[in-house]
Amino acid sequence: MDIQLSGIGMTSARTRDRLVQRLRDAGIQDERVLDAIRNTPRHLFIEEALAHQAYDDTALPIGHGQTISQPWVVARMTELLIANGKPRKVLEIGTGCGYQTSVLAPFCDELYSVERIRPLQDQARKRLLQLGLAKVQLKHADGGFGWKAEAPFDGILAACARADIPDGLLSQLADGGRLVMPVGGDRQQILTVVDREGDQFHTQTLDPVRFVPFQRGVMR
Ligand code: SAH
Repeated sequence: MDIQLSGIGMTSARTRDRLVQRLRDAGIQDERVLDAIRNTPRHLFIEEALAHQAYDDTALPIGHGQTISQPWVVARMTELLIANGKPRKVLEIGTGCGYQTSVLAPFCDELYSVERIRPLQDQARKRLLQLGLAKVQLKHADGGFGWKAEAPFDGILAACARADIPDGLLSQLADGGRLVMPVGGDRQQILTVVDREGDQFHTQTLDPVRFVPFQRGVMR
C-alpha cells in the first residue's frame, strides 16, 4: 500500500492514462482538457483512505456532506467552458477540495473561486499553493451573488446544482461570455450552458448529471 501511495501504483502515469482513455471513450474530445486531467494529481485532493480510488471516474466524499466531482463531469464542464476560446477571466462557484479549480486554472488568465464552507476553502487554499496555483483568488461567500467587485467574467462555472440560475450570476457574465451549471432538482440535473449576447441569454441543455445542491448562506 505504501509503495502504491508513493507513486508507482495507483498514482502512476499508467493509472492516469487509463482514466484519460475512459473519459475519451465517454465522449470527452478536447485533448487539452484530457492533458489537464492527466497532469492534475487527483489523489492529493482526497483523504488517504480513499486514494486508491482517486483515478476512478467517480465522485468521492470530501467531508461536510460534499464531494469531489467525478472526473468526467470536470472534463465536460471545462471543455464546454473553453469551447469558444480560452476565457480571460473565470468565476467558479463551489471550490470544494479545489480539484476542478486546478484543472481549470491553465485555461484562464484569472480565476476566482467562491466556497461557502470555510474548512473546505482552507484546505483547498493549501493544496492550490502546493501545486503552484497561487494566482487563484478564493473567497468565503455565498456564490449565489457571484463576485461583484471582479465582474464581468468571460466564463462562469458552478459545481453545485439549483432549480434556477441565480440572476446574480447571469448579470456578471460578460457579453460573449459563457456560463456552465447543473440545473434541476435534488436527484438529477441537466448540465446547462448559457451564452450571453448583449441582453440575450441563449440556453442549451446537455447531459444529465448529479451534483450536490447549491445552498444559500455561508458556513464557518
Ligand atoms: N469543485 C469541486 C466540487 C465541490 S462540490 C471539485 O472539484 O470536486 C460543490 C461545492 O459547492 C461544495 O463544496 C459546496 O460547499 C459548494 N457550494 C454549494 N453551494 C454554494 C454556494 N451558494 N456558494 C459557494 N459554494 C457553494
